Amino acid sequence: MVMAEEKLWKCGKCKEDLVKKRTAFSYLGHTFSTEVMCCPKCGKVFIPKELAEGKMAAVEQELEDK
Ligand SMILES: [Zn+2]
Repeated sequence: MVMAEEKLWKCGKCKEDLVKKRTAFSYLGHTFSTEVMCCPKCGKVFIPKELAEGKMAAVEQELEDK
């Protein structure tokens, strides 16, 4: 498996490689989970801007439909 295209993320504080972690978010009373990158040392979670915006937009749309 070649993963050269994948960006290597590191925690700016610990210099640790980030690991994928399934995290639950709560937004506008809804809870959903997604995989995000997080620091194994300090636990800081890094959410790509596109992912955060895309997910939030999806949840907002879901709420509007009801
Ligand atoms: Zn860290």
